[in-house]
Amino acid sequence: MPESAKNKPRVGISHCLLGEPVRYDGGHKRHSLIVNVLGPHVQWVKVCPEVEMGLAVPRESMILTGDSESMKLIGKDSGKDYTSGMEEFCRRKTRELKSIGLDGFIFKKSSPSCGVMSVNVHAGIFSEAHDEKRSGFFSAKLLQVLPNLPIAEEDELISREAIAEFMRRLRI
Ligand code: SF4
Repeated sequence: MPESAKNKPRVGISHCLLGEPVRYDGGHKRHSLIVNVLGPHVQWVKVCPEVEMGLAVPRESMILTGDSESMKLIGKDSGKDYTSGMEEFCRRKTRELKSIGLDGFIFKKSSPSCGVMSVNVHAGIFSEAHDEKRSGFFSAKLLQVLPNLPIAEEDELISREAIAEFMRRLRI
């Protein structure tokens, strides 16, 4: 029996992974296996935190600074502090995603907005990254609100077997 769109799980995804040119450099990171193998079984809920908080494409790249209690999202070239805009977006978006009954999320690895424990942290605005890895701004906030959400970063979904395992976690 064909799956109706209504019955398919709602899976959030970093929008650039679907091939949308929303990255800071005007590019995308389309992930063919996710799009072609998982895509037909789910309803995508596309999220690009940086664009949805009001930033343009292209834009300067961002870095993460501070500690887990006071994360900051900073423009890499300008040193501009984008934290309050991102915090406001996260408050609104995490409420919205919780209310629609999200079933899972696939995040873009290493992004200061979307990565999950894969993001380089910088000691200060113009200092080099150190070894510690942390979650990005939006992913950390979403997982505070939905701590049991099945999640993956795109580089974990590199085979049909890995996709099948993720689908089992989504109960497909
Ligand atoms: Fe947007 Fe996240 Fe992709 Fe960056 S990693 S372009 S913030 S969806």
